[in-house]
Amino acid sequence: MLDPHDIELPRKILIGKGVIKNIGEVAKSIGLSGRAYVLLGKTGRNLATKDVLNSLTACGFDVVDNDVKDEEELLRHVFDTKPSFVVSVGGGMTIDLGKYAAFKLGVPFISVPTAASHDGIASPMVSLKILKTPYSIKARPPIAIIADVNVIMNAPHKLLASGCGDILAKLTAVRDWRLAHILKNEYYGEYAASLAEMSAKLVMKNARLIGAHKEEGVRVVIEALVSCGVAMCIAGSSRPCSGSEHMFSHALDMIAPKPALHGEQCGVGAIMMAYLHGIDWKRIKKTLEVIGAPTTAKELGIEDEYIIRALVEAHKIRPRYTILGDTGLTWEAAERLAKVTEVIE
Ligand SMILES: [Zn+2]
Repeated sequence: MLDPHDIELPRKILIGKGVIKNIGEVAKSIGLSGRAYVLLGKTGRNLATKDVLNSLTACGFDVVDNDVKDEEELLRHVFDTKPSFVVSVGGGMTIDLGKYAAFKLGVPFISVPTAASHDGIASPMVSLKILKTPYSIKARPPIAIIADVNVIMNAPHKLLASGCGDILAKLTAVRDWRLAHILKNEYYGEYAASLAEMSAKLVMKNARLIGAHKEEGVRVVIEALVSCGVAMCIAGSSRPCSGSEHMFSHALDMIAPKPALHGEQCGVGAIMMAYLHGIDWKRIKKTLEVIGAPTTAKELGIEDEYIIRALVEAHKIRPRYTILGDTGLTWEAAERLAKVTEVIE
């Protein structure tokens, strides 16, 4: 039991077509005023970013914007600018950087994702190179999330598929959490766990629509990612959303010369960890295939050797008990696991 159990949640979540143009009104409606610092991701200055800047300016905010290049330099600039709130328009790194800057300044953060590629959209967690931990740390959740379906629909399918890998990973993450509860008496919250699991189940159910990049499918993924973020807010940690499959992905990020996308790696990790948990790994694999996400080392563009090494090293990534146990897998067991699940040949 967590006592007191302190839950902080986003206040406003806007999902729909063209909602990006409402950011100024949304910011006003939640009582924000003064200077807005807007971080723009590497997709650069396009129609979406113009809409954000125009809407904020039209609503009377003093807007300072900047492109994300160097993490440290940008953070310094945000701190020097002393904004009354921070906005990120972009992908995972841009959102995490804005979230972290706002957290450090003690000001609100608005998340404007341009792709549905990861569950950081609505979560309190950040993962950044400058933090020098291979896994994410806890900051605060965004006060508002503005997910424009038109903008996210236009992002490459690969990013949407990656988001689905990150969502299907909840099936093994929740199993790992339950295991840590049973074996190590770690706090386990059934509500947060169920919410994360439900997101994965909805993605499974709608896999065909998502694979065909249909609007209904894209909406399911956005809502599922937001729900996963909320699950982490409720749990007070990333536990419901990140288990052994994430540790495998974090290990790949450190080991592989050219890692794949976070969600892509987590999806492949989920296939293998599901096998270890004795749950239906074939269904996870099939779902990823239908969605168009990678299910093999080859599709990830990572050599077999790195997959095995990441499996062997995964348990050392962080002090978090999972199906990998305290001592992890041996090389032979890891190789066998990757072969049995057809991740390597
Ligand atoms: Zn993730």
